[in-house]
Amino acid sequence: MQTNVLALVPRDWEEKMKLKLTLLSAAAVLAFASVSYAEATIGISMPTKSSARWIADGDSMVQQLEAAGFTADLQYAEDDIPNQLAQIENMITKGVDVLVIAAIDGTTLSNALENADAAGIDVIAYDRLIRDSAFVDYYATFNNFEVGVLQASSLVGGLNDRFGGGPYNVELFGGSPDDNNAYFFYNGAMSVIQPLIDSGNINVVSGQMGMETVGTLRWDGAVAQARMDNLLSAHYTQESVHGILSPYDGLSIGILSSLKGVGYGSDDLKMPIVTGQDAEVPSVKSILLGEQYSTVFKDTRELARVTVGMVEALLNDTTPEINDTETYDNGVLIVPSFLLAPVSLDISNWEEILIESGYYSMDQIQ
Ligand code: BGC
Repeated sequence: MQTNVLALVPRDWEEKMKLKLTLLSAAAVLAFASVSYAEATIGISMPTKSSARWIADGDSMVQQLEAAGFTADLQYAEDDIPNQLAQIENMITKGVDVLVIAAIDGTTLSNALENADAAGIDVIAYDRLIRDSAFVDYYATFNNFEVGVLQASSLVGGLNDRFGGGPYNVELFGGSPDDNNAYFFYNGAMSVIQPLIDSGNINVVSGQMGMETVGTLRWDGAVAQARMDNLLSAHYTQESVHGILSPYDGLSIGILSSLKGVGYGSDDLKMPIVTGQDAEVPSVKSILLGEQYSTVFKDTRELARVTVGMVEALLNDTTPEINDTETYDNGVLIVPSFLLAPVSLDISNWEEILIESGYYSMDQIQ
């Protein structure tokens, strides 16, 4: 309802009283508005609890949202797409104020997001880009291309340390083809590896390259382990493998089991350089044992901080802080993003990065 300001100019006592009452009710409206801001509920849809990183993300999000005075509705979908869709639809029906979504399959949420838009709910894509929808308002993530660059740089450095000057036999693994991030990781890694393949310093003995060939659906460690078993029996009976590009710790653990199964990790057959991502506890332990070579640490506390900042800005009707307006084209629009910096982690810096920063306690690792 519009108020005519001129009508509020006091002409006599009765008018003054009317104005006072009007101001009082305006103050009441404001007070109500701030209560409803504080009472806002934020729906958080996470892909799975099968990986510790997403549990850490969910915990940090709830903790920081509650500290900011919001209510958090956190749901995990156990890597089941219909389940995630149902959870999101349910949050929309319940009337959450903002949706924060880490998609299982970044291409399957278009209808749900249309409904969110119709209900006036803003959507933040969390870590993974949501594709093919105009209703993604912001994206909070890490520099995903850089993650791949860090993985491949660590691989190349490790190859040189462990096996001398090369040439090296290397096999490549990609992430889930329905996760936009997987392409960024792969392309970032190949920006380092391809020139070495071209120069003959790296040899992909199986010839298996490209995300359509090396992708691992749903980031499933058992699938990676089975593929590594096949690669070893088909291509490495006469020669040994020196390095594996692995984009995620859960895959690395499967790949390492396969390698250990045929005797790698002994004096005769040195363990290949295996990369990873997320600094999950089993992989940090593996790094300390000299098995996995490295991982990429992405501080989920920081990702939650950036995301909660976006939520606050949206509910305050201000513009969230972003630092990238070019990279993340979701097929319909370029989603304004905030990219955090990933960190390469190995035996030389794990303690400083994980323990000194309080991300893990020493008890969790030893
Ligand atoms: C995330 C990675 C994670 C992977 C598997 C990606 O979208 O960015 O951090 O390793 O999913 O969960």
